[in-house]
Amino acid sequence: MKDFRLRQVHLDFHTSPLIPDVGAKFDKKAWQETLKLGHVDSITVFSKCHHGFSYHPTKVNTMNPTLKFDLLKAQLEACEEIGVRAPVYISAGFDEKDAVEHHDWVRVNPSDIGKAPDFTQAGYHLMCFNTAYLDKLIAEIEEVMVNYNPCEIFLDIVGEPMCCCEKCCADMTAAGLDYNNLKDVEAFGKKVYRNYLDRVEEAVHKHNPETIIFQNSGHVSKGRPDLIDTIECLELESLPTGGWGYDHFPMSAAYARTKRDCFLGMTGKFHRTWGEFGGFKHPNALRYETALSLAEGGGCSIGDQMHPEGLLNKSTYGLIGKAYAEVEAKEPWCKGARYIADIAVLAAECIKGRDEGGWYDAGANRILLETNRLYNFIDLDEDFTKYKMLILPDIWKFDERLKSKINDYLAKGGKLLLSGVSGLDDNNEFCVDTGVKFIGENEFRPTYFIPEFDTVNGKTEYLMRAVNYRFDNIDAEIVANGQNPYFNRTAEHFCSHQHAPNDRSLTYPTAAIKGNIAYIGWDIFRGYAESGDFHIKELVAYVIERLMNGDFTIESSVPDKGIVTLLQQNDRKIVHLLYVHTTVRGKDTEVIEDVVPLYNVNVSVKCDKPEKVILVPQNEEIDFTYADGKVSFTVPKVEIHQMISIE
Ligand SMILES: [Zn+2]
Repeated sequence: MKDFRLRQVHLDFHTSPLIPDVGAKFDKKAWQETLKLGHVDSITVFSKCHHGFSYHPTKVNTMNPTLKFDLLKAQLEACEEIGVRAPVYISAGFDEKDAVEHHDWVRVNPSDIGKAPDFTQAGYHLMCFNTAYLDKLIAEIEEVMVNYNPCEIFLDIVGEPMCCCEKCCADMTAAGLDYNNLKDVEAFGKKVYRNYLDRVEEAVHKHNPETIIFQNSGHVSKGRPDLIDTIECLELESLPTGGWGYDHFPMSAAYARTKRDCFLGMTGKFHRTWGEFGGFKHPNALRYETALSLAEGGGCSIGDQMHPEGLLNKSTYGLIGKAYAEVEAKEPWCKGARYIADIAVLAAECIKGRDEGGWYDAGANRILLETNRLYNFIDLDEDFTKYKMLILPDIWKFDERLKSKINDYLAKGGKLLLSGVSGLDDNNEFCVDTGVKFIGENEFRPTYFIPEFDTVNGKTEYLMRAVNYRFDNIDAEIVANGQNPYFNRTAEHFCSHQHAPNDRSLTYPTAAIKGNIAYIGWDIFRGYAESGDFHIKELVAYVIERLMNGDFTIESSVPDKGIVTLLQQNDRKIVHLLYVHTTVRGKDTEVIEDVVPLYNVNVSVKCDKPEKVILVPQNEEIDFTYADGKVSFTVPKVEIHQMISIE
């Protein structure tokens, strides 16, 4: 692996050309001292920002009009002197200067065909990579490669476009495609983006094959390995308070680590998100977010934006330093460590796309996260037999390839959880032996769930808003039943403020287990993502426990809001325990401020008998017992994050 740093800063520097004296206060010593204050070992520096100006002399673009020297070179030299890595940032998708000068290079939404770009609102315009803009961008990249030979080029605001600019429409017509048909526009956009990726790779690697390329689209799409085939290290943009939420990064990491050994969790120092001058989060939030990256098997990146005058903010790097001093101390137990997963979720995003598929995946992610299971999100290329259990959430009808992979997996003893229409073929017959016969989608909604196992609130009828699918039992064990409401709520018949109560005249099976296969007859994962009802999680958690039958690699007393992960580093296992409480402040910002520690957390891990169990990085040995192939110990205190090395 190339030089992989765990304490990175993604420094934004999108600076209006109307602001005077850009970079005038840059000072090498101050820059170096501030980075040291932040315990930073890698920081992006800017070639070109979203406004479209370069921060260095250029023959192919225009330098920022109020910058008087080669700021990029000065920053690169300052970093090199203190051993800080410095990827070079180039804004690809936004270039406002070029958008203003070349309206025909601006991307046009399919709904705006023939319209000129709108410059009446503040904000950037997306550029079309199918125009001469791409040639100019490639020249900018090559100029940076020739003049600065950076370790990494970071290209931002990219992805497959849906563009109907004049050039795209003409090219689609010439290729026999219809630009009024969104499917054709999408297919054409894929080709345009592929060409962009290939040209960037050529432009970078012809000058230095060792230079890393990163293409940032804000999300690593599950099931699209072709979009990351030129990327060695994935950077997972996920600012918990910037719209991503605290559950996004664990899910994103759970997929990224199946595709690459090297990935970063990118959060921000901001109260909310990018571009927020003067916004700060509490240090405890950054301590948690960076620890979470380590726990999920990644490195850390923190977003910041520098003031136009060119000075890094001391308060910001004091804040970052509180988190990164801890990361630095933890690194010896994190570098090269590989996450251990018991369960894999075949990501719905692979076939339903991010907007729709994301709902099913979010439900599965939250249930596994909140029940502290070890899991990955996978695509169809993954080797299923690496996992003890496979979850196919709600939407996975089988084709021949999936059927064959699943049969092979089951033959090797794998355990399978299906829900919704997962496991069915096109004739609505189950492709594996679930012990039940599928009937079809239930016309009633909502329905009611009746557990045939112990639940916190006891046996009763629980509301299920998700789509229900009816089935008949053949020879499975029924672990949950269901009832319909008296009627669906319509103008002709309704009851009370919401839905009608359960009608006891008919009870039917809703969840079944046969051998290593379980089926739940609801879109249960989407249901949990949408409503978060506790009893939905109870049903899924029960079925998972039944299938796993005590074979979890780790079990602990960490509560639902906590995080438990396990990584293998050489011959030792590293347990990560995390806990914070979040609170919504302002309209909708979920913040972390004060720390509430956990005390006396019980952990047991399946492994060979160890010689010692050590709290790290404190290097304090703790007592343990070993029985039935499991080491068990009690961690006296978890204050945000505690690692335990089993050696
Ligand atoms: Zn276009």
